[in-house]
Amino acid sequence: MTDTPVKLLFIEDSRDDVQLALLALERDGLRPSWKHVATEMELREALQSSTPDAILSDFSMPDFDGLAALKIARDFAPRVPFIFVSGTIGEERAIEAIRLGATDYVLKDNLRRLGTALRRALAEARDRERVRAAEEERARLVEILEATSDYVGMSDPQGRRIYLNAAGRKLTGVPEHHAEGALSPEIYPGWVREIIQNEALPAAAREGLWQGETAMLDSEGKEIPVSQVVIAHRASDGGIRFFSTIARDISERKAYEKRITYLASYDALSGLPNRSLLGDRTAQAMTHARRVGRPCALIVLDLDRFKLINDSYGRSAGDALLRQVGERIRGAVRDGDTTARLEAASFAVLAADLARADDVLNVTRKVHELFKVPLSIEGHEIHVTLSIGASVFPRDGDNFDALLGNADVAKHRVKASGGKGFQFYAAAMTREATERIELENALRTAVARRELELHYQPQVDIASGRIRGVEALMRWRHAERGWIPPGRFIPVAEESHLIEPLGDWALAEGCRQLAAWDRAGHYDLQVGINVSAVQFRSAGFVGAVTRALRAQEIDPSRLELELTESELIDDREVAISVLGSLKKLGVRISVDDFGTGYSSLNYLSRLPVDCLKIDRSFVARVEQGGRDAAIVQAIISLAHSLGLRVLAEGVETKEQLRFLRSHGCDEAQGHLFARPCATDAASSLIAARSLKV
Ligand code: C2E
Ligand code: MG
Ligand code: MG
Repeated sequence: MTDTPVKLLFIEDSRDDVQLALLALERDGLRPSWKHVATEMELREALQSSTPDAILSDFSMPDFDGLAALKIARDFAPRVPFIFVSGTIGEERAIEAIRLGATDYVLKDNLRRLGTALRRALAEARDRERVRAAEEERARLVEILEATSDYVGMSDPQGRRIYLNAAGRKLTGVPEHHAEGALSPEIYPGWVREIIQNEALPAAAREGLWQGETAMLDSEGKEIPVSQVVIAHRASDGGIRFFSTIARDISERKAYEKRITYLASYDALSGLPNRSLLGDRTAQAMTHARRVGRPCALIVLDLDRFKLINDSYGRSAGDALLRQVGERIRGAVRDGDTTARLEAASFAVLAADLARADDVLNVTRKVHELFKVPLSIEGHEIHVTLSIGASVFPRDGDNFDALLGNADVAKHRVKASGGKGFQFYAAAMTREATERIELENALRTAVARRELELHYQPQVDIASGRIRGVEALMRWRHAERGWIPPGRFIPVAEESHLIEPLGDWALAEGCRQLAAWDRAGHYDLQVGINVSAVQFRSAGFVGAVTRALRAQEIDPSRLELELTESELIDDREVAISVLGSLKKLGVRISVDDFGTGYSSLNYLSRLPVDCLKIDRSFVARVEQGGRDAAIVQAIISLAHSLGLRVLAEGVETKEQLRFLRSHGCDEAQGHLFARPCATDAASSLIAARSLKV
């Protein structure tokens, strides 16, 4: 019957009876291995050392009792079939024995039945064992399912829930006693129910398994994103017995993914879209523009002098400033437009769906308008200006990089002419941009190569014709290109931060020359030196002035620093504090190009300045009378009422001089007297002491 022989344990006082039983079994085709015990002690020992497949026991023995043996066997080997083989057992005791756990009984005079009885008992024991093992297995699985943190549910093909594990009950808030019988679709939001019905269940029925990302509703009805598996379980006849579903809460991963996509598309500081997202939006806008035949534009906006602000107020103020600037730009554009931050102080706007290319001007005007109001950062009022360049699709480029690059070129053009302005891109500018870069590179080595010189232009006292002073004007003799005017290279120097070494050099050189003139006996000659805005606001400026004066032991009042009006009105706090330090040193201050800025005289009157230099554009038109003449007149009288000297720049004609003299202007400077000239020529003019015209 089996390969391994059945192991039998006989409890029997008579060896002959054991042999008879074995014989009967042999006749029935069974060749068991066996052991024989006759006493309680032997029985205990035998059961402790190994478990037989079946026990065959006599009922009444002289030294042992069958029922006592049965009890011991039930204790030590409860699942082993126990068959009484006895000559004496009666009906009643047999029933009692079965009740106490015996499997069967066979009478000794009917041993032919023993084989069948043993076989049946063994088969039943095996079945029982199989069921028991299966139940144990099931209990273990349920234990695992209850312990897992994934949602596990089973439902019949009609959608009624058969089982829902602890994690599932927790996720959905279904109490344990409701876990079964309810319709399982209730735990899904509508859109998932559709996926389950139309996609997941048919696919699982077809292929056995479906996987996807869906959502479940928690006890408060909130959607929890899950990754879900649906499995169809089939009966042996092929029909579906039930569906099971395993789902895992992926909220954290989803949130993380969202954060990653956010980080990949947005600038962390300003919260605005970054360059990459701007690129995507531009591509969309171009597609749209092609379809509807309306242009779109890319506008690049650069904060002027940001590094300066950052250096003087510190990083956190710089960051706050950038955030506010971003917000302000966004406030200036339409809702559908994208405002992005490209890099440090560079922003961009994608203006989509424009009626005409020139509509870009509306955007830039609005931006300039909004930025007239100073920003308030950590208690400081900061005036910022923007250099803005724009390119238009399809005119200036047909892809994002080209459009951005060209808007950038246009913006650089604005920067190069002093910032605060707007330019459209035009093809010619690319050459200009390249040239600008070349210029910057050459300028870097200009000081070291001694390519810079100061030329001097006399400043004349109108009443006496005496030379009161000279203005130092920087000249650059470029190795290949010859003389380059300061109007070209000063803005480049400012933008590339080369202005500081250049400015320091001008201060040192101007003072050195002043000392030389002093030694030649020109004790009250003044030298005016131009100071760029960037230089004025740099941390080392006052120190550089001090050093230049000390190096030559010059009376500070003979140095006049020329600052333009706009330098003084931008960020007044800094202006006032730097001017204060300069005044303490004893140097004089003049306001250059006066009349071109928008300063209020009221504000200027509170600054410690000594002289106003009327811009030459007004002087040029005084002869025509009218508005410019009136302005010059007003400047002179206002300056005098504030106790300031007035100098007219760019005086070219005798008529201009006459006008100025008749209105009491103190000094004049211009081609009428002398052009700026090299040191030797200037020295001769100074030696002559006065310039009569
Ligand atoms: P600015 O300080 O207003 O200088 C006066 C400008 O007017 C000079 O131009 C001068 O040559 C010019 N000018 C003088 N008289 C006449 C005249 O009768 N008619 C006309 N049409 N022009 C006259 P320049 O030398 O080309 O300098 C231009 C600007 O460059 C200066 O304007 C100043 O802002 C800047 N600059 C010059 N040297 C320096 C310097 O060492 N440092 C700094 N930061 N800027 C400088
Ligand atoms: Mg000047
Ligand atoms: Mg000037």
